[in-house]
Amino acid sequence: MPSEPRTARDGWIDVSVALHSDIVHWPDNPPVRIERMLDIEHGDAANVSKISMGSHTGTHMDAPLLFVREGKGLDEMPLAATKLVPAQIAGSDGFGIADLDHPCTTDRGVEQVLFKTRNSARSWPSRAFLEDFVYVSQEATRYLAAWNIRTVGIDYLSVGGFRKGGVERHRALLEAGIWVIEGLDLSEVEPGEYELVCLPIKVEQSDGAPARAILRAI
Ligand SMILES: [Zn+2]
Repeated sequence: MPSEPRTARDGWIDVSVALHSDIVHWPDNPPVRIERMLDIEHGDAANVSKISMGSHTGTHMDAPLLFVREGKGLDEMPLAATKLVPAQIAGSDGFGIADLDHPCTTDRGVEQVLFKTRNSARSWPSRAFLEDFVYVSQEATRYLAAWNIRTVGIDYLSVGGFRKGGVERHRALLEAGIWVIEGLDLSEVEPGEYELVCLPIKVEQSDGAPARAILRAI
């Protein structure tokens, strides 16, 4: 069966990546394994798969619990954090505060910012982990926290760089109460204002969980 087009007729754009057994993952995280355990082709009554993966692979969200000992798990995330609130997509290469001064991000009505960078176009076709992906600077994380941004998203596996401040970036955002979406594919989305729906699967006390994320222009 052909899969759905990325942009549905009603205007929703799927900005999630499809999980498969060869998908790229953070170097020290577990790989994704999707195996058919029951198979109609082999005489079973149904097709049933076993899925094994790290909680920070593909399109996923981070909970404060990832880096904060007593932090909230994703199961405690308020649904309003990622649902139907105007979201801003800012185009950028490696970015700091100057890039965040885009007109829409200085509008106090914006609660969510998704960063479309060159990661979207170059990262996902690669099965190899890219060490030089674009990430958020520490000054930018402080700025986002000061603006009371509720949710921040980026189009590769981390808001922090590879061996370049990943822990500090996550802590700065998560300790400020900002929910983090990682692993987005924004290649088919132009900068602008959108409605966002992104719901991570509900796992008790989860540090992170896979999510489906969709956008619609407003
Ligand atoms: Zn994560």
